[in-house]
Amino acid sequence: MRRRVVAGNWKMHGSTATIERLLDALVQLTTPQVDVLLFPPIAYLSAVIERVKGSELAVGAQNIHAESSGAFTGEVAAEMVKDLGATHVLVGHSERRRWFGETDTIVAQKFSAALRVGLVPILCVGETSEQRDEGRAEQVVMTQLDAVVAAVGITALQRSMVAYEPVWVIGTGRSATPADAQSMHSAIRARIRTLDAKVADGLRVLYGGSITAANAAALFAGSDVDGGLVGGASLNAEQFENICRAA
Ligand code: PEP
Repeated sequence: MRRRVVAGNWKMHGSTATIERLLDALVQLTTPQVDVLLFPPIAYLSAVIERVKGSELAVGAQNIHAESSGAFTGEVAAEMVKDLGATHVLVGHSERRRWFGETDTIVAQKFSAALRVGLVPILCVGETSEQRDEGRAEQVVMTQLDAVVAAVGITALQRSMVAYEPVWVIGTGRSATPADAQSMHSAIRARIRTLDAKVADGLRVLYGGSITAANAAALFAGSDVDGGLVGGASLNAEQFENICRAA
């Protein structure tokens, strides 16, 4: 039985005051059957890690650089994120792929850097609306997945998670149907199973894209959906708590 996960990606939102208010509510959350992860902007990572100590929440970074140190102004190494006490990192989010030119090769390097320092990478994969309309959704997602498996090897996936996030539903208020989600999650697991059945059975595959308290339970009902990566709704304590309860 795979343990459920709900992860909140705060993206580039928040301030000291709004984050304090959000955490005042979230630190009280008790979710014995769900791992709850928070991904604040890097500027607040240390403060959030300190604030959640003693609670059931874990904290990760939204991004890392693949190199462990060097002349990369403005970048943050996996080693630094780990040093602060973070446990997880998002890798290959569609916004990073789209706005920061992250290719499958770069994503695989970042995934590998996370594993190098003992962070759990959450590999985000997903197709655009054009790719879906052209009937290439599954092919695109498998190519993104294969690039990482080729770089780190299949057993390394035991120390990671995957998030299926169709690009056309992220931040749009339009969510995929529970059947769309289950169908892609099942295809992802089947692909992994061709390489290693044990890894496939244990891998937690999260769904992401306009999850709300209203649609979470239906989206999480799929047998291959192990929880969610939540953007907008994770900035609202009540919504986020209800999504955790749905999980
Ligand atoms: C995300 O950013 O990973 C995401 C799923 O965003 P939203 O829930 O706002 O669509």
